[in-house]
Amino acid sequence: MSDCCSAPGLLPFENALENMLSQITPVTETLTLPITQALNYVLAQDIASPLNVPNHDNSAMDGYAFAIASLQQNKTLTMVGRSMAGAPFKGECKLGECIRIMTGAKMPACCDSVEMQENVQADGESITFFKGKELAGKEQKEKKLGSHVRKAGEDIQLGQHVLNQGQQLSAIDIGILASLGVSEVQVFRKLKVALIATGDELKLPGQALNSGDIYESNSFVLRGMLDKLHIDVIDFGIIEDDFEAIKAAFVSADSQADAVISSGGVSVGDADYTKTVLDDLGEIGFWKIAMKPGKPFAFGKLPHSVFFGLPGNPVSALVTFHQLAIVALTKMQNAQALQRTHLQVKCVSNLKKSPGRMDFQRGVLSINDAGENVVESTGSQGSGILSSLARANCFIVLASEQGKVNAGEMVAVQLFDQFIC
Ligand code: AMP
Ligand code: MG
Repeated sequence: MSDCCSAPGLLPFENALENMLSQITPVTETLTLPITQALNYVLAQDIASPLNVPNHDNSAMDGYAFAIASLQQNKTLTMVGRSMAGAPFKGECKLGECIRIMTGAKMPACCDSVEMQENVQADGESITFFKGKELAGKEQKEKKLGSHVRKAGEDIQLGQHVLNQGQQLSAIDIGILASLGVSEVQVFRKLKVALIATGDELKLPGQALNSGDIYESNSFVLRGMLDKLHIDVIDFGIIEDDFEAIKAAFVSADSQADAVISSGGVSVGDADYTKTVLDDLGEIGFWKIAMKPGKPFAFGKLPHSVFFGLPGNPVSALVTFHQLAIVALTKMQNAQALQRTHLQVKCVSNLKKSPGRMDFQRGVLSINDAGENVVESTGSQGSGILSSLARANCFIVLASEQGKVNAGEMVAVQLFDQFIC
């Protein structure tokens, strides 16, 4: 709290993040899944390659395999066999002989190089390897030892470390596992998160609005982002601003989920029920974080789960979820720490900002006519303006002590990651 530049009583953003992460325990339960079901799970083991990829020297072309030494005596070699993908040549060959070979076929032990079929003249079993400009005016280079041969292990070597514990398995990772012949992997179990939207004014899309009502959108945004995090959602829907209703929802959510996430009801005024219920149930800190949007945020422990209390305003809910809760949830998943991309770019808008809170303004990063990266504000930064996020592709991150920004100044941007886009 001793940050020189935070407004009094506000918890600096970094301290909030650190405090929260120190209270997160990663899951330990693992399961073994066939790779066809393992997409997006967090890997619970390191994977070392059980074989060379490719597993044997093979041809990169349809053509003729030969030993380079053969061509020193004679440019015409005798074809004595074939090597096809899946049906290698099993015989023997001597100097002066060559083997017809197809792409992917195993290199015969007696050969070290391949010439593509377009560069030879085949006359029955007699195969003439050209040099110079003899073949239809085509420039032919000196044959090189090992040409058009894919060496065993040139992609992945036997024993090579391929995937790490904590990696969230992508489609490519699954393909790599398949290419290694690995059919099952050990992964950490999925997390379950309970979502609760609080507010008497909230209605679900499809319902009629009474005077003063609004449509509930936070749980829809959060559900989509949780889905991308590969976390199961238990949706508690909309809970009215009522002590008993909120308590019943929190008790039930806590008994079923690893984390309970509510939105709304954490700011001064209507926070009362949420706060009283949570004081009753667990150890929850109601923080005022020096960040904008998203000052009010609650975090702590319920008897069986952790609790994130997001502000109700849609932009604040999304930004606090993205900047704080996701970081904690990935730690809980046992996933590698998120690497978010930050760039220093020229800002082409004037930005309003008062010192005291860290700002996450919405920006559009683009390349101008001079080829420079520039960022423009999406305009009004009100915490209820969800559409400003839809138009943005990055956050303009302004440090606590920063004041207003004039067009032309450099600013830090954080590119939107896969959870927002
Ligand atoms: P609160 O944090 O409950 O004071 O809510 C702050 C603002 O966010 C109010 O304008 C609420 O109507 C709005 N709000 C709260 N929850 C939601 C929600 N789930 N979806 C959309 N807006 C919400
Ligand atoms: Mg409310």
